[in-house]
Amino acid sequence: MNLALLAESASTYLEEASPETIIAWTVEHFGDKVVVASSFEDCVLVDIATKVDPQIEVIFLDTGFHFEETLAYVGQVSKLLNLNLRIVRPSIPLTESPCGSDLCCQVRKVQPLLLALSGKDAWITGLKRVDSPTRSATPVVAYDSDKGKLKVNPLINWTDEDIISYLHTHDLPAHPLWSKGYTSIGCAPTTRPPLPGEGRRSGRWAGTSKTECGLHT
Ligand code: SF4
Repeated sequence: MNLALLAESASTYLEEASPETIIAWTVEHFGDKVVVASSFEDCVLVDIATKVDPQIEVIFLDTGFHFEETLAYVGQVSKLLNLNLRIVRPSIPLTESPCGSDLCCQVRKVQPLLLALSGKDAWITGLKRVDSPTRSATPVVAYDSDKGKLKVNPLINWTDEDIISYLHTHDLPAHPLWSKGYTSIGCAPTTRPPLPGEGRRSGRWAGTSKTECGLHT
């Protein structure tokens, strides 16, 4: 199967489709060779994915630097939705290439993701175009040539309001840091709530030129 050609046609065909339809299309094409990668900033993606396929594999990259609230939320959601969850951890100690060093994201996020995706053909993410200007043109389906996988973004057309509405409608818990002003949640040392007037991801790596950890670039 030529994944690049498939991505090109699917990105047009699925542009207006619902997340359920997009995930169902992905599972139909790739079966158990699909993985959902969730940051657990919220639980909308994993809820929809497990309704489409209760056995779909969900991965969470535990860098070792997450907020306690995030780890508690992962446990809460996993139990609530009976997730087929795999927690992926780096192979190095916290003291080696620690937060703030050039290699931290590479060895704690990018490399563990690559390992988790080995043997898979497609990965599903929670990217949204409203996340940041750098994500505003992201297609719903793309060929991730670096990884040799199809990258599927079922929530790409959703807004923050859509996420909140879905959580309310389906009686799902929100990440506890939302109520403390956080609008984008990554590792604790490099995440703060945005200041008034700032964009939703502006609290990530604030004060540096960095905007992405490398998973999506
Ligand atoms: S976001 Fe910060 S702590 Fe997390 S992996 Fe990247 S550099 Fe390390």
